[in-house]
Amino acid sequence: MTSSAPRGTRPYYVSVDDEEQVFKAAYRQNMSIVLKGPTGCGKTRFVEAMAYDLGRPLITVSCHDDLTTADLVGRYLLRGGETEWADGPLTRAVREGAICYLDEVVEARQDTTVVLHPLADYRRQLPIERLGETLDAAPGFGLVVSYNPGYQSVLKDLKDSTRQRMVAIEFGFPSPDVEEKIVASEAGVNTDIASALVRLGQAIRRVETAGLREVASTRVLIASGRLIVEGLSMRTAARVAIAGPLTDDALVAGGLIEMIDAYLPDDNVRQGD
Ligand code: ADP
Repeated sequence: MTSSAPRGTRPYYVSVDDEEQVFKAAYRQNMSIVLKGPTGCGKTRFVEAMAYDLGRPLITVSCHDDLTTADLVGRYLLRGGETEWADGPLTRAVREGAICYLDEVVEARQDTTVVLHPLADYRRQLPIERLGETLDAAPGFGLVVSYNPGYQSVLKDLKDSTRQRMVAIEFGFPSPDVEEKIVASEAGVNTDIASALVRLGQAIRRVETAGLREVASTRVLIASGRLIVEGLSMRTAARVAIAGPLTDDALVAGGLIEMIDAYLPDDNVRQGD
């Protein structure tokens, strides 16, 4: 979990569509926001940039299937023989008027997400059963959740009653020219390398993804770029940062490596050329 008040420079984020406008409009209207899209396509970075623009602290929680309501809301802890209440990240955000970002919210158990309902709608309240209190969200509080629609079973799908309380912003991968700019800037590679990596990424996204849980994201293209900056060849970088992480299946990996060899030169386009 991270919490940071915006300061310094704005997190680098390149707009892909009208998502900034939509986010800010929904936030100003006290509406909760759901970001839908595959992993590594810029959702987290987007929320960081929005929190910065809106001048709000951001509290991020990565959800997982062991996450309990107490993890979000808070619990009594033993400290020096005394029990002491400790706010969870959601409660802190509600008290501070921060933006609370629950990343991959479908990973959390449904009973956990129930606590979000009165917060997500017009009530903007957080009931804390253990304390016998209901907190009104401080001005500035915002609830943002993300999930990856292609990834989880129907069972883990968000409840309709939760979804209908939210404004949805769809994320996809950026267009090639935008993605090239992002890869070049984030990895520190030249345009030729960035554009070769993006072409490879596009090709992987086009093929049937049988055997691939996820397609090649902007994140893995950036990771390859960072290894190229360290002097690895493009093919090696793509093999270890794209093919390896995407699959454990030897056959699928073989297919990806063929694509890597087809799309990337075997000697490097040198940095700065
Ligand atoms: P997600 O939260 O969707 O899994 P991230 O926000 O962590 O994805 O994005 C992965 C990386 O890709 C980021 O660290 C950032 O470097 C880069 N990135 C993706 N999209 C953008 C964008 N539109 N502008 C700037 N950087 C981006």
